[in-house]
Amino acid sequence: MGLIVQKFGGTSVKSAESRKAVLNHILKAKAAGNDVVVVVSAMGRRGDPYATDTLIDLLREQGGKINPKTQDLLMSCGEIISACVMATYIEAQGVKAEAMTGFQAGILTTDDFGNADIVNIDPEPIQAKLREGKVVVAAGFQGRTRNNEITTLGRGGSDTTAVVLGGYLKADLVEIYTDVPGIAVTDPRVVPEAQFIPKLSYDETIAMAENGAKVIHPRAVKAAKEFNLQVRVKSTFDESEGTLVGPEASDLTICGISLTKDIAAAKYERGADFTEAELIKLQSISNDKTLYGDSSRQIVILLDEGRKDIGMSLADELKAQVSFLENMSKVTVVYKDTVSSKEVDDRITAILAGEDISVVAKKQFENCCSYIVEEDTAKKSVKAIYKAFFK
Ligand code: ADP
Ligand code: MG
Repeated sequence: MGLIVQKFGGTSVKSAESRKAVLNHILKAKAAGNDVVVVVSAMGRRGDPYATDTLIDLLREQGGKINPKTQDLLMSCGEIISACVMATYIEAQGVKAEAMTGFQAGILTTDDFGNADIVNIDPEPIQAKLREGKVVVAAGFQGRTRNNEITTLGRGGSDTTAVVLGGYLKADLVEIYTDVPGIAVTDPRVVPEAQFIPKLSYDETIAMAENGAKVIHPRAVKAAKEFNLQVRVKSTFDESEGTLVGPEASDLTICGISLTKDIAAAKYERGADFTEAELIKLQSISNDKTLYGDSSRQIVILLDEGRKDIGMSLADELKAQVSFLENMSKVTVVYKDTVSSKEVDDRITAILAGEDISVVAKKQFENCCSYIVEEDTAKKSVKAIYKAFFK
């Protein structure tokens, strides 16, 4: 007996059939004697009537510039609809339930509309409903500012809602239910046979999530680490154990191969080494504040296509040649910090060379190494690395 937070994503609440599977997980946790707080996302994907992107399209169709506050107010409705539907479905089974918006659930955020951060949660409104024996169904992805304006937390925001609620409510466990049975070494959509991992550390998961493994949002994992909360990622549609994200590391030498698509980069070259101060300037204009490459005369940075002007004027200032690289992808391999990064890098470099894949630039971090490759070789890179390490 304890308090469990269960989060269900868009594909889980999408249809009557999928909601039946959701209901079963909720009722099972409740019947086991737990207090249950459910966090739901909006139903389905673009094209489905109440999906986030469908709602945004409604505003776009009006022409003109969209007020970010208005957009957040509208977007928040998707999750509220899901919460009302699930609470009603639960009550139809004779179990008491209460739907709550983020506002009602006491979720206070910054005023960065569209990408707000949770700054505090007052646990009392939810605790009051739990004391009445109710299952609370909270709308994910949203909160309110100090001025009572509705905000949304950005893509993957419901994951964050669930974990941070878990933290403030002192939950025993947070379960993130989705359409795949846990976190796999790589996206099962790219490598269908990808192995699912029984346990992962916070840092391993953060590295994977920050580099494109969208199964859980990196902010949610960071919050779990701060609250020292165990998070289980599992499927709504089967009974498998899923992946436990906690303090303990996986047993794998390489636990993740993540892919970030649709990136643009800029390559700076000069006859002489860039100075420390110049490198800081390059870093400051880049998207991820990272310098790629292993020479100090040739640096690659990630730079949105819309910011080419800034990239160009910095090239003038540094008296460097710049070339803009479009349609790039980043493949990031996450490994144990006990293995030698040189060994891992040498092996991956050989694997990619063996497939005739050219690496535009690379960068080693503490527990991962990222390779920038052309978009059309990205999936091939992921498959080749997976095959070499897991077969
Ligand atoms: P939800 O709507 O439940 O939040 P998401 O679409 O955000 O679901 O996340 C689930 C998807 O994440 C999966 O369908 C899968 O394709 C993708 N994914 C990407 N990388 C991974 C990975 N390493 N392990 C598992 N799933 C992954
Ligand atoms: Mg998600």
